[in-house]
Amino acid sequence: MKSSGEKKIAMFFEQIKKDIFPEWDKKDEWRVKNIKHDSKHINSDYLGKCDSTGKIIYLNLDPEDWKIEMLMVHEICHAQKGCKSHGDQWKKKMQEAAYRCESAGNYRLADQIRHEIENYSS
Ligand SMILES: [Zn+2]
Repeated sequence: MKSSGEKKIAMFFEQIKKDIFPEWDKKDEWRVKNIKHDSKHINSDYLGKCDSTGKIIYLNLDPEDWKIEMLMVHEICHAQKGCKSHGDQWKKKMQEAAYRCESAGNYRLADQIRHEIENYSS
């Protein structure tokens, strides 16, 4: 039985894939997992993690947290080729994501993504 938080996250993930990353994960291999209330991960110190081998995006946030969609975009960008670090390639993917968000009419998320890029720029 899935909790409403899990459903919400799965819904965000589908929407983000459709609107922002239509070319990615066409075979639906990736999964998103929230570990916030998972006792096995109680001491995890990250908010998000991208496991390219297992094809899993881990999130460590409350499903109601305002950051959750932006963090998903952040981690999906890491899943793209050559984007493991927060370097130029990753930033370029994030820029593209922000642009696509805007095109889809989601200005709030586009803004959040652009702020996130700034956080990783020196
Ligand atoms: Zn990151």
